[in-house]
Amino acid sequence: MDKESKIFVAGHRGLVGSAILRKLQAEGYTNLVTRTRAELDLRDQAAVNRFFEEERPEYVFLAAAKVGGILANSTYPADFIRDNLQIQTNVIDAAYRTGVKKLLFLGSSCIYPKYAPQPMKEEYLLTGPLEPTNEWYAVAKIAGIKMAQAYRRQYGFNAISLMPTNLYGPGDNFDLETSHVIPALIRKFHEAKVEGKPHVVVWGTGKPRREFLHVDDLADAALFLMKNNDNEEIINVGVGEDVSIRELAELIQDVVGFKGEIVFDTTKPDGTPRKLLDVSRLQALGWKARIPLREGLASTYRWYVENFSAGVGR
Ligand code: GDP
Repeated sequence: MDKESKIFVAGHRGLVGSAILRKLQAEGYTNLVTRTRAELDLRDQAAVNRFFEEERPEYVFLAAAKVGGILANSTYPADFIRDNLQIQTNVIDAAYRTGVKKLLFLGSSCIYPKYAPQPMKEEYLLTGPLEPTNEWYAVAKIAGIKMAQAYRRQYGFNAISLMPTNLYGPGDNFDLETSHVIPALIRKFHEAKVEGKPHVVVWGTGKPRREFLHVDDLADAALFLMKNNDNEEIINVGVGEDVSIRELAELIQDVVGFKGEIVFDTTKPDGTPRKLLDVSRLQALGWKARIPLREGLASTYRWYVENFSAGVGR
C-alpha cells in the first residue's frame, strides 16, 4: 500500500472508520474513497457491485457495520444479523471480484464465547456458546471472518480480520441509554459538574474489569496490519491490560474535575466479570498500543465538550 494507492474506507462516519480515515490522511495517503450511507447503501448488492466496478479501489478497510449496546441488540435482532451479513458479504465479494489487493475486516472481542478463559486468545473463537444478548451480531461477524478465510483459501483473496477490544474515543455514542461505559461516564460526570450535583451514579458494583483501547490506536494497528500481516488467522487488537469499573470511574471523575461522590447502583447489571484480550500475537508482530488510558480519556473528554455538550453548561 503506497501513498497513491486507491483506498476505500467503508463506514467512514463511524467510530472506527472515521479514525482509520483520520490516520490515513495524517500519514499522507491521498487517494481515499468514501461514500455516505445516502450515496451507497452497502446492504444493496447491486449498488455495491456497481460501486466497485466503477471505482476499482485497491485496498479496502471494511469498518461499516450495524453496532449497538445490549438494548439495541435485543430489540432489533433481525436488523443486526441481516444488515451485518449483507454489508460484509456484498463488500467482501465485490472486492474479490473487482481485483482488490487486500481487504481488512473488523470482528470484535464480544464475539468470543461467553465463558472464554481470560485473557482471551485468538484460538478461543467458536469454542463455546455466545453471549445470548448479542448472538445475532456475533454470528454475523463470525460469518464475516469465515468468509474472509474461505475467500483466501479458495480464491487466494488477501483478506485479514482484526478482533478489537472495547473501543472509545472521538465520535463515540454518548447516549446514556445505548452507550458503553466510557462515553456514559464522561457525560454523567460532566453534567453533574456543570449542574453542581452531589453525586454520580455508576452502574453495578464497580468490580468488573474491562480493557479499553483508544480508537486512534486501533486505526494505527489497522494500518500496521494492512502493511505487515497477510495471515488468515484472526488477530486480537488490545492493550493487554484492564482496569476495574471503579478505577475507570475515578479516572474519569478526575479528568472531568467532578468534586462530588461516586455512588454504585448495584441494582444495575455488572455484565461479564472480566473481558481482556491476549495480545501476544500482535506484539510478536511488533505493534503495541501507545495512548495511555488517562490521556485518551482526557482527549475524548475535550472532544465531547467541543462537539457534543453544547447547551449543557456552555
Ligand atoms: P460491556 O463491556 O459489554 O459490559 O459493556 P458496557 O461498556 O456497557 O459496560 C461495562 C461495565 O460498566 C458494566 O459492568 C456496566 O455495569 C458498567 N457501567 C457502570 N456505569 C455504566 C453506565 O453508565 N453505562 C454503561 N453502559 N455501563 C456502565
